[in-house]
Amino acid sequence: MVRLLVTGTPGVGKTTIATGLARIYGATIVGLDEIITPVLKWDPKLQTYHVTNENEARKLITERLKTLNSYIIDTVAVNLIDASLIDWCVVLRLEPTQLMDRLTRRNWPHCKVVENVLAEIVGSSLVMAINTFGRDRVIEVDTTNKNVDEVINYITNRIAYGRPAVGIVDWLDDVDTDILINLSKELDACLS
Ligand code: ADP
Ligand code: MG
Repeated sequence: MVRLLVTGTPGVGKTTIATGLARIYGATIVGLDEIITPVLKWDPKLQTYHVTNENEARKLITERLKTLNSYIIDTVAVNLIDASLIDWCVVLRLEPTQLMDRLTRRNWPHCKVVENVLAEIVGSSLVMAINTFGRDRVIEVDTTNKNVDEVINYITNRIAYGRPAVGIVDWLDDVDTDILINLSKELDACLS
């Protein structure tokens, strides 16, 4: 039995890695969006879905997961998952300029790209994962310059040996100061 959550900033590779892990473990991939459709509303300004009732969303997710033995959840919405339903939370990380390239290729609005690249730089997903599951159940993975198989091997090894991983990357230290300043100016412009 394996109960995993795969999270990280959009574009880091959640869906790709979750699919590979599901094949290896013979687990069901659970897409949260389809479970919580009744409480999702499109926000045209932020160009994203927003949850209208978090308690109801948590209830719907818990009901669905209780019907499954082994599952892998692919989501950014870590806060909607009851900690008792997850054994390991995998947090995928990607070097911010490479993430910027991937998100730009998606033809996302520039402000949405900037917002997500900054979220990756400060490690929002990691902070939320640690906050929800505790450091002992988080496996942070630097996917930068690793192919899909290398990322999957890293994760399955950590799980097999029961070894969490936190504090793997520090993009604030690695990313050029000029790039950081530019991004924060762009965010200001987006918010104004
Ligand atoms: P997410 O679900 O986090 O938004 P995806 O799984 O859709 O991310 O991946 C985004 C893009 O990055 C896809 O084109 C995918 O093929 C590519 N990708 C994912 N993981 C890797 C990797 N380890 N190395 C290279 N490209 C990857
Ligand atoms: Mg995805």
